[in-house]
Amino acid sequence: MTDTNEQIRVRFAPSPTGFLHVGGARTALFNWLYARRHGGVFVLRIEDTDRARSSEEMTEVILDGMRWLGLDWDEGPVHQADGVERHRAAADRLLAEGKAYRCFATPEELRKWREEGGEDFRLTRDKLELPEEEADRRVAEGEPYTVRFRVPEGSTEWDDAVHGKTVFQNDDIDDFIVLRSDRTPVYNLAAVADDVEMRISHVIRGDDHISNTPRQIMLYRALGAEVPTFAHVPMILGPDGRRLSKRHGATAVGDYAAEGILPEALVNFLALLGWSPGEDREVMTIEEMTSLFSLERINKKSAIFDPEKLDWMNGQHLSRQPAERIVPLVARKLVDSGTLSEAEVAENQEWLVTLVEMFKVRSRRADEIARHAQLFLADEVAYDPIAVQKHWKDPADVAKRLDAVSATLRNLGAWEPAMIEQALRATAERLNTGFGKVVHPLRLAVTGQSSSPGIDQVLFMTGRERTLKRLKVARKSLVGTKG
Ligand code: GLU
Repeated sequence: MTDTNEQIRVRFAPSPTGFLHVGGARTALFNWLYARRHGGVFVLRIEDTDRARSSEEMTEVILDGMRWLGLDWDEGPVHQADGVERHRAAADRLLAEGKAYRCFATPEELRKWREEGGEDFRLTRDKLELPEEEADRRVAEGEPYTVRFRVPEGSTEWDDAVHGKTVFQNDDIDDFIVLRSDRTPVYNLAAVADDVEMRISHVIRGDDHISNTPRQIMLYRALGAEVPTFAHVPMILGPDGRRLSKRHGATAVGDYAAEGILPEALVNFLALLGWSPGEDREVMTIEEMTSLFSLERINKKSAIFDPEKLDWMNGQHLSRQPAERIVPLVARKLVDSGTLSEAEVAENQEWLVTLVEMFKVRSRRADEIARHAQLFLADEVAYDPIAVQKHWKDPADVAKRLDAVSATLRNLGAWEPAMIEQALRATAERLNTGFGKVVHPLRLAVTGQSSSPGIDQVLFMTGRERTLKRLKVARKSLVGTKG
């Protein structure tokens, strides 16, 4: 199935009636990966025939989401509504060939039949189809009609790339409408007519569409077109096992972008919702996923959306990115929280790069890194009492060491990590004490904690002025000493 000589052409066909959600984004991704894996063509089709519910604004949101995820398309966006004449022509062809018929049943009549028919009511053709002359007469009188597809006898089956052999009995499918009485096409007809027009070879979509597939296959056949390969990807459930929805929190792609999730991480996470590359591989670039992707490795079982895992995945990608890529995200958070101004961000790019480098490995999101900035920017430091007991046990001695450090740092030439470290080592030697005896009380004075990143980095990031100020405050709080 994957080794066909014919060109692979897939499509993502969102209806612009809402945001780009997790499910849609995953469908887009699977189509994209499949096209890229096989040198195929990825077409974007906006299914906007439902004019009342579709909007240009939502189309833009969907396109933005795809661009942000890095899912570029080769053809389109094609607007389905532009093809309405073609869809009507397809319905008229079915009519002309006797594969469809005009149905004059009104909504009231249908309701009445349903009510009278009770539970096992079936819409049978003898109710729906009138003799030819009667139909012609009604048309001549201007009576509106729908076009219904004449469902053939037998069964409809296909070899689903995910679910394997799938069979529907045609008996269970009523003659369905393909063209409404206002001559607008119904989804199944529009989708098939477009897939034929676009020469789509593989339809990869959510398995909520499985019940449409037998109808669509019948339409392909009736229109004399080749039936594509279908791959129905499993549903996405929330952690509680219920279908993923708003009640599980953010599900729109735009929300994740705003929350500081990296597109690389979301793409990786989405790919693993229903697909697995085997070999226990989890953290992957989009290139790696492309080289490993296959429809055969899509699960039949539904996938669970675990927000904890998304966070973890984000941390993994965060630590693999160059700091320069993360700095703008962290800066955005610092500006939004009022911690830094735009001007300060522009002036302190090197500082921001160092901040990101210090914390990207341990953080899961950009805002976590931004929060660490407080360590260097806060005006006041709160001392951890356990650290005080441990490192400021002998106030007079500590005071002497902190004074010596202050003097050294005040006179230090360049305020750079290497210089700072060298100066601290020299101070310890001069005091005839170990490096740790200097660093531990100093770290407590500057950060309030007994552990932190390297002291040279911490002082560098805190800056000379603020470091000296913090030392002064610490000096004053050393009980029993003259500040
Ligand atoms: N517009 C349909 C949807 O958003 C597309 C279904 C299909 O891929 O055929 O669900």
